[in-house]
Amino acid sequence: MNTKWITSLFVCLLFACTPKKQSVKDSPTKKQTLDMNSNTLKKKRFDTILQGKPVKLFWLENGDIKMAMTNYGGRIVGLYVPDKKGDLIDVNIGYGSIKTYLEADETYFGATIGRVGNRIAKGKFTLNGTEFSVPTNNNGNALHGGYKGFQSVVWEAQQPNKYTLILQYTSPDMEEGFPGNLKTKVTYSLTSENAVRIQYKASTDKPTLVNLTNHAYFNLNGEGSGTILNHKMQLFAEAFTPVDAGLIPTGELRPVSGTPFDFTQPRTIGERVEADNEQLHFGGGYDHNYVLGAKQEKSMNHAAKVVGDISKITMNVYTKEPGVQFYGGNFMGSKNTLKSGAKDDARTAFCLETQHFPDAPNQPNFPSIQLNPGETYTTSSEYHFSVE
Ligand code: BGC
Repeated sequence: MNTKWITSLFVCLLFACTPKKQSVKDSPTKKQTLDMNSNTLKKKRFDTILQGKPVKLFWLENGDIKMAMTNYGGRIVGLYVPDKKGDLIDVNIGYGSIKTYLEADETYFGATIGRVGNRIAKGKFTLNGTEFSVPTNNNGNALHGGYKGFQSVVWEAQQPNKYTLILQYTSPDMEEGFPGNLKTKVTYSLTSENAVRIQYKASTDKPTLVNLTNHAYFNLNGEGSGTILNHKMQLFAEAFTPVDAGLIPTGELRPVSGTPFDFTQPRTIGERVEADNEQLHFGGGYDHNYVLGAKQEKSMNHAAKVVGDISKITMNVYTKEPGVQFYGGNFMGSKNTLKSGAKDDARTAFCLETQHFPDAPNQPNFPSIQLNPGETYTTSSEYHFSVE
């Protein structure tokens, strides 16, 4: 036998006996799936200086979930939760770099919104007899705190432990036309029950308006997995606040019963979204505030339960707020590239923005959003994840 042949036989035997190394694709463990996902979120694409302040990518983890945030806009950029197979899925829509957040045409993905979430008619309101005018950045109305809303400021950030991020921002007197220096503190934490908890606090030195929320865009089948039209949704609300063509509430609290707005029983988001209904025409689909209070749990309003049809990931939303804006992603315009590489196509995400009702300062029947010196604004909302 020549030595060449013996060497070849030995090499063949060695390969046959060595167990085949499993590729990540074969059967990803939770950890591997997360690494694959988080590969799209690179620290170096987030760590920078903006407005003279440090901006960073922060990772939070607890229970089975993990969340990536940036202090630019106080925003969630990725949220990884286990699906029915235990694989971690990124259910939060966002971009892969600060550069994209600065350049993209949609600026609200995942952000903390303030000082006034949603719309103020014509940007006008009166506080203790004084009239104020704020910038009208949305079809003649003010939306989400103006051009330089809280989504576009750099928050001071502290991460006291692996599951908490404390964000603070003081909005100066008359910033975007709103009176009073508003000291704001928003604490994002992940609980051991697989929930994202958001606690808001604010105080002012002059009477002002405050209505803070978070503007996460969710797709429970995962970012880039198509539309959310087959997600099953339940909204624990007997009424909603109908709007005019500019999406300003008329002041009415309209029962949902018998309308395409009734989600008191689980319905897919897409079932009735194209129905011939004036309110759906105005919003280009669902873009409406629901009146909460029909169901309480965990000493909060149980706002919603949503199930991703493919992943079976289930999200329950609880809040101390009286309302929730159900926005079905109707205005998403395929103009922006998400961290997964997918485009932000219409209705590929939905938002559940816990809030006081839109245009509250001009609607005497809506709960007030006025904050006075000496008072403390506190509220909280929770997004709980499980599988069905
Ligand atoms: C509003 C939508 C708006 C969206 C922006 C929602 O809160 O109600 O009309 O297009 O935010 O992301």
